[in-house]
Amino acid sequence: VTYPALERLIAELNRLPGLGERTAARMAYYIVRSSKQAHAPHASLAHDLAQALLGALEHTHMCSECGIWCESDVCNTCQNIHRNNRQLCVVENVSDVRAVENTGVFKGLYHVLHGVLAPLQGIGPEELKLNRLVERVHAQGFEEVILATNAHVEGDATAMYITQLLQPLGVKITRLASGIPRGGELEYLDKATVSKAFQDRR
Ligand SMILES: [Zn+2]
Repeated sequence: VTYPALERLIAELNRLPGLGERTAARMAYYIVRSSKQAHAPHASLAHDLAQALLGALEHTHMCSECGIWCESDVCNTCQNIHRNNRQLCVVENVSDVRAVENTGVFKGLYHVLHGVLAPLQGIGPEELKLNRLVERVHAQGFEEVILATNAHVEGDATAMYITQLLQPLGVKITRLASGIPRGGELEYLDKATVSKAFQDRR
């Protein structure tokens, strides 16, 4: 028998993507048990987790330039004068930025869409603020825009849509090479595969 407070914790954890109810329940039981057994309840996992969640929410902002999560108005990557400001890499999520950064092959700037076009779920060009991307490419004079949306139907459709939007600006537009397996998401691929997809972009 699980009581309402614990039931709620399981339900909230179950809202996280890719977890499932069984894993959510295991995590909830683990958090409560280990926290009850902790020597100092105020330094327990439950307490630290709650603090970390609220802290992240309070201090994290979306970079006004690229959309990366950061703690100031403009992120460190956008402010870094050693980055190549002629190349822009467009990704779905901040976790994709992490995957690309881990390879070390890309030294340019990023643009995070925070999603992909999904008309059935009501996510259109406006929801992704694609006009901001066009304005940015126009204003900052990038020479190359690398479309690194994931290799699934929505990712391809989004890349095609953005290509049409940017083409009139005369900028070189490339797409990551097809070395990425179908349905493969950057964040789950190994460094070598992501590096190769970058080098072989067309
Ligand atoms: Zn930024």
